[in-house]
Amino acid sequence: MTNRQMDVVEKKARELLNARGVTLDDIAELVYYLQAKYHPDLKMADCKENVDRVLRKREVQNAVLTGIQLDILAEQKKLEEPLQDIIDRDEGLYGVDEIIALSIVNVYGSIGFTNYGYIDKQKPGILEHLNDKSSGKCHTFLDDIVGAIAAAASSRLAHSAANTE
Ligand SMILES: [Mg+2]
Repeated sequence: MTNRQMDVVEKKARELLNARGVTLDDIAELVYYLQAKYHPDLKMADCKENVDRVLRKREVQNAVLTGIQLDILAEQKKLEEPLQDIIDRDEGLYGVDEIIALSIVNVYGSIGFTNYGYIDKQKPGILEHLNDKSSGKCHTFLDDIVGAIAAAASSRLAHSAANTE
């Protein structure tokens, strides 16, 4: 997982996730949550490996950069109204956060959509934490992005398991 040249976009996307309080392990736990019932011998290391692979995709890195940037600007009150207020309040009808997340889910095909919808409803682990509005942080985009990375990694894991069985 190391010894690999990362370009600036990938490096920055990974740094931003960390800076916003989301580790690879946090996302790997979501993958485990989604996939443990289908793969009895599932290891956390496999979940983490699949998350890492998803983060190597440019579409995913672009979604991470864009979404987190908007969260940060909203937190700093630097967006123009009415967008500032919409993102800051995480207005339910906005929906662009989900659309950006779908560009991640799309990468590994249709199993991803089901996983994404499910995890978005359940909000396990780090997702519950990101949705806690009392933190003073703005995670309007990040919660969907993290859920989508977990959903995409779950699809990847499911596909690779199907290919080896
Ligand atoms: Mg959201």
